[in-house]
Amino acid sequence: MAIEITPHIISLHVDLPWFPQPYPPNVFLIRDGGEAALIDSGFSDDDSYDKRIALLGELGIRMRDGAAPARSALTYIILTHHHYDHASGAYRLRAATGAQVVVHRDEEALLLSPEDETGDLEIPEDQKEARARAKQWREDAAKATPDVRVADGDVLRVGALHLRCVHAPGHTAGHLCIFLEEERALFAGDNVLGVGTAAISPPPHGDMAEYIRSLRKMQALDAALLLPGHGPVVREPNRKIQELIDHRRQREDQIVALIAQGKDSVKTLVKAIYPELDKRLNGMATGQIISHLHKLQSEGKLRLEGKGEEMRVVGRQ
Ligand SMILES: [Zn+2]
Repeated sequence: MAIEITPHIISLHVDLPWFPQPYPPNVFLIRDGGEAALIDSGFSDDDSYDKRIALLGELGIRMRDGAAPARSALTYIILTHHHYDHASGAYRLRAATGAQVVVHRDEEALLLSPEDETGDLEIPEDQKEARARAKQWREDAAKATPDVRVADGDVLRVGALHLRCVHAPGHTAGHLCIFLEEERALFAGDNVLGVGTAAISPPPHGDMAEYIRSLRKMQALDAALLLPGHGPVVREPNRKIQELIDHRRQREDQIVALIAQGKDSVKTLVKAIYPELDKRLNGMATGQIISHLHKLQSEGKLRLEGKGEEMRVVGRQ
């Protein structure tokens, strides 16, 4: 389903009934004057890919096989980050359209490491089929060898439009947001979700302190419209971003208070903060607590020992 959001922005929505969260990854098409670009690529499975190719054809995007008459050339597939729900479809879409794959230069190594699944979408154990496909998706994402590597502040042109690259790390090291200057529209990737809060992996894959700095950087753009990595479009971007900053600050205060009460292991913190947690979300919850603890350690506020679930706070100021 193609949903026009503004005259230059179209959402290429594909329903994924099996997806473990309420909102599948968003893919957006930006177009102007005979040129077009994609923000993210969605999944590589036949269903996702076939539906997106059909939508691109209907929208008049030129295909290499040249069957249908075309109005626009797809010049870029811009990946906000390497996670396979956003990146695994890119190599197939590139092959069909001739577009160039664009990533931030700090994301390339993550994208090209197919054996490393840390930080990717967490698929519940009872979804056996999707879990089996996850390995393939990770390998497919790694086939999107970048054609263009960008840095913060670089500008890509699509017709007369200016797409400013905004390095906004935290969710991943080379996470990229795109600011469409003419419409003050901010493509936020997984830094902001239309509903709920984004998961931030602990270092080395993510970084909570950097994530909060990135949110402030995004706020400074004063966007009129925000297009998240998952879920509905956000019409008041700065209010939404402030909610995320406040949520993280409250969570941090809560963790500091619990540690002061002697709850000094990751396990006891997860239990205290998420008392009614669905077992399937345990890994994600644990990751969030560890990310906050790493931030506090990097600020010299405590010292950590051990790894993962066994991590403990051993010293605090
Ligand atoms: Zn992600």
